[in-house]
Parts: sequence; C-alpha cells; structure tokens
Amino acid sequence: MVEQRHVLLVTFPAQGHINPSLQFAKRLLRMDVQVTFATSVFALSRMTKFSGSIPKGLSFAPFSDGYDDGFQPKGVDPTEYMSGIEKQGSNTLRNVINTSADQGRPVTCLVYTLLLPWAATAAHECHIPSALLWIQPATVMDIYYYYFHGYEDDVKNNSSDPTWSIQFPGLPSMKTTDLPSFMLPSSDAIYSFALPTFKRQLETLDEEEKPKVLVNTFDALEPQALKAIESYNLIAIGPLTPSAFLDGKDPSETSFSGDLFQKSKDYKAWLNSRPIASVVYVSFGSLLRLPKKQMEEIASGLLKSGRPFLWVIRAKEDGEEEKEEDRLSCMEELEEKGMIVPWCSQIEVLTHPSLGCFVTHCGWNSTLESLVCGVPMIAFPHWTDQGTNAKLIEDVWETGVRVIPNEDGTVESDEIKRCIETVMDDGAKGIELRRNAMNWKELAREAMQEGGSSDKNLKAFVEDAGKGY
Ligand code: UDP
Repeated sequence: MVEQRHVLLVTFPAQGHINPSLQFAKRLLRMDVQVTFATSVFALSRMTKFSGSIPKGLSFAPFSDGYDDGFQPKGVDPTEYMSGIEKQGSNTLRNVINTSADQGRPVTCLVYTLLLPWAATAAHECHIPSALLWIQPATVMDIYYYYFHGYEDDVKNNSSDPTWSIQFPGLPSMKTTDLPSFMLPSSDAIYSFALPTFKRQLETLDEEEKPKVLVNTFDALEPQALKAIESYNLIAIGPLTPSAFLDGKDPSETSFSGDLFQKSKDYKAWLNSRPIASVVYVSFGSLLRLPKKQMEEIASGLLKSGRPFLWVIRAKEDGEEEKEEDRLSCMEELEEKGMIVPWCSQIEVLTHPSLGCFVTHCGWNSTLESLVCGVPMIAFPHWTDQGTNAKLIEDVWETGVRVIPNEDGTVESDEIKRCIETVMDDGAKGIELRRNAMNWKELAREAMQEGGSSDKNLKAFVEDAGKGY
C-alpha cells in the first residue's frame, strides 16, 4: 500500500517567508498531500487569528522563538535569537517526526525555508528526505553559491569600487549594488549572522548528491539561473502567490497580513474612485523602516508627480509612540492628493484597474506579485536580495526603472518624480515597460496553470517525495 505523503514544512517567522510557504502548503494540500506547518508560536497565533489566510486541512507545529507574545526587535541580539530558534525548532521537528510515525502518518519529506539549515540536519538525523524552499529568485541562490565556491575573494577585494563588476557563471554581469547586501562590506554589523547562515546552508546542501531546491520562480523567468549550479537540482515551482493573483478563482483569499489590514479597509473605495491606470502604489514591505529624510523626499516626489497615490506607512511596532517630529511636514497635502494607510491587501491593490505602477523595495514577494499582476515597477531597493531583484526588474525583465540615490544614499524627490514619469507617461520607454509587464503576467499565469511548467515541476517533486529514501 502506498502511504499518504506527509510534508513537514518549516518556515522562518517573518511575513515574507510565511506568505510563500502558506501558498506552497496550499498547493500540496490540493494534491492530497498532508502538510504540517512549523513556525514560531507568535507567528502562528497571528495566522490563526486571521484565519482567512489559513488553508483548510493544514496541521500546525509551533515552536517558541523566545517571543511568544510578540517579537520586539529592539534590543534583540540576532545571533542569540538564531541559536534559540535553532534549539527549539530542532526539538520540535524531531518530536513531530517521531509522533507522526507513531500515529501511522509518517513524515515523508521535510521542506524548509531560508535561514534554517538546522532543519535539514534534523531531517538527515531522522532519515527523512529534505528540500530547501528558496523564497528568493534563483539568481540570488546562484550568487550565494558562487560566492562560497570560488568568488568570495573577488567580491571582498573589489566590491568597494563602484566601477567594478563581476560575472558569475550563467548570470548577467553584476555591479556591487546588484549583489545581496549581506556579502558587502557596507552591510550593517547587526546582520553579521546572515552570511555564515547562508554558508552553512550551502555546506549542508553540498553534503547531498544533487540536492533539491524548490525555487519560488518559474522556468520562463529565470531559464539560465535555474541551470547555473550543476551540482544542485533547482526546481521552479512558483510564483507562490495567492491563487487570486493568478486566476481570480478565489477572490476572498488574501495573503496573511495581520491586524493592520483590519484597520485600513477604506482604501478600496478610494481606489474605485480613481481613473484607470492612474494610481502610484508605494510600499516597502513588512520590515523596512526608512529614515525621516527619505520619507520627506518620497512625499515631495509623489506630490511633484501630481498623480494620485496609495502609500503604505506602517505604524511603529516596538511599542514606541509616534512622535510629533516623525510626522511628515506636508501631511495635509499628502492626505488631500493621495491616501496613506498602515497596511493593505497588496493583492487587492495590485489587481485593481486604477493601479498604474508600484514603487517597491523589491522584496521578492512584492516583485513576483507585481509581475503576476502585470504592474510596472519603480525599483527602490535597500538590502538583502532587493538589489539583485532590482537589477533583474530593470535589465533582464525590463518591467521597471531603478531609482538612482544621491551620494549620501538618499533618493531625492526629483529622481522619484523622474521615475514615476518614465513608467507612467506615454513615452516609448513607458509603453515598452507596460507591454513587457503584461507579457510577464501571461507567462507567470501560464506557469501555474494545470499543465504549466511550475505545476508539472511540483507534481514531479511530490511524486518523488513520497517514495521514501
Ligand atoms: N504586504 C501586504 N500589504 C502591505 C505590504 C505588504 O499584503 O501593505 C505583503 C505583500 O503582498 C508581500 C509581503 O507582505 O506578500 C511582503 O513580502 P516581501 O518579500 O515583498 O517583503 P518583506 O516584507 O519580506 O521585506
């Protein structure tokens, strides 16, 4: 008798990791695979509170990350946090694997997202096959791989030179600003844990023969990058965006977005009242907090562009009160010309007919969501994989333009206005960007359809994952 496949899916407790993991879980459940979802106690309590984002039939395995009542970034030592999560997470995974076997529903494969190399170790110890779910583009995976396989010195010795560029096998030429920020000398010391974690991740994969890496991308989007590492099996199974992005079959479905969303619903009526393709949407994801100076430049750039805008400005999360000096100087005019919300359902915004372009920090989920919706982008990257994503948006997929910061790293209002005009106006460049965006929209949807490349790739993976090793 063939036993039912059971995937134990473990994910780092951050919004940008949980959203694609939940979509992955949903796809597996539809294929009649049992899924147990492991993440932090707090992340899970938020998810279950807003149950619209939880797929039916999913089981949960929470573990403590030390912040069960809510993560407070202030004063956290990231290295301590990572080792705490490793200890608690590893124990939980072992328990789930043992208990599930006792219950006659053994885990047949463990799938884990970034920053959790210990999950693969737990799987190896318990003789369970494992696969990494890479929630950034294949290109970024390749860059990390080659950095730790022969290119580290070149990057270390030369990346301070703004005229330098590097060519990794199978990838377009990259400048310093196109590389993941963690490998650059300018990276904030607080993130010094990240690069060694990626290194450990790759070393763990290198111990396996042709390890499987499921990538949140699709074949047509990164054909060369998916083949750039000969010793790994990179399998494109994305875009892992809510299905409403892809086929509109389930419009009630949204990303997991927490309580802020509940507070900011009236933007929909506002979007409905704007002309078609007129609104500039501005969002920097779930983590970034920009300096006041940069916020003022964005505000002024938006006002100078003269277009309606929807701008997500998240409230402070560390319990600190908003101070008077945090308030933007031209708030009244901003509220008159546009709409500012603490959170929105990005899916509803990106699929809205009044949307014209997306000023994005280029987080990979936001980038994919924009591609899937055919929305051209203004790439405004900050850290981690965002610079690489911006490079792909501007030079490879040609669906957006990238802002050019001034010498102190600030993007000035006139530059923001220039980018908005390039993307939104009817000049040759704007027309081309919008046409390319529509083309990627079609290709992304095709990939996820029944019989599309990602659908086939995932089915083949599931088929294999049940065989036992
Ligand atoms: N998001 C949202 N509403 C917002 C801002 C963000 O639903 O107002 C979602 C967005 O759709 C995406 C995720 O939050 O799925 C952000 O992930 P991304 O990888 O883009 O950035 P990160 O937050 O990890 O920096």
